Amino acid sequence: MQEYILKGVVLKAIDLKEKDKLLTIYTLERGLVSASLRGVRQQKSKLKFAAQPLCFAEFSLVGDKDIVTCTNASEIESFFAVTSNYDVLVLAGAMCEMIYLTAIKESNVDLFISLVRALGGLCNEAINPDVVFIKFCLQFFKCMGYKLNFDTCKNCGNDFNEDCCLDLNSGAIVCKSCATLNSVIISKQCFKLLNIIDGLQFANLSSIKINDAQATECKTVLIKNFNALFDKNLKSIKV
Ligand SMILES: [Zn+2]
Repeated sequence: MQEYILKGVVLKAIDLKEKDKLLTIYTLERGLVSASLRGVRQQKSKLKFAAQPLCFAEFSLVGDKDIVTCTNASEIESFFAVTSNYDVLVLAGAMCEMIYLTAIKESNVDLFISLVRALGGLCNEAINPDVVFIKFCLQFFKCMGYKLNFDTCKNCGNDFNEDCCLDLNSGAIVCKSCATLNSVIISKQCFKLLNIIDGLQFANLSSIKINDAQATECKTVLIKNFNALFDKNLKSIKV
């Protein structure tokens, strides 16, 4: 059978049979792929690195069924630094979970690039990890067709002059007068931060200074939006 190569990040790796692992890989070319990695739990296996969540590699695969077989892997980049800090690891886990819960077997190049840049950002000590996570969430919504609007109220078109709201039915930012019961308040400061972070590249996020309370408000708004839009309940970070 023809072997093919996909670039991807391992989101999940669970034990399979006696010596194998079942990987869920988010790939650049085909979105989510399930692949078995045979014998990887044996002492002498050279592919143990490929069975670690967050491994970013080129995977050699065979098969065309729901679960394909991984025959080889070569690492592109290690995001191992993420594991040195529990809080950062939780953020990386939440990003992987967001993709795992919503991605399909279809390529989404921008989302893939955002994931890789965000994981790289979490390894960069010059950048506040919460800011990286906030940027990833904003990119995630954009890549999934729910880009947040920061210019005017999505409903009435008025400018935002005071606290506004995120309408959880539509995933759009609206002014207070247009808010429905199913919406969450965004403070002026949180709105400003989200707007600035939205306009920056991952590489430029080190310029953003944010305190814990601000980070918590931004993350809460974004995760509530994720849970409502996709009818999911993110387990990695509870809000
Ligand atoms: Zn309005």
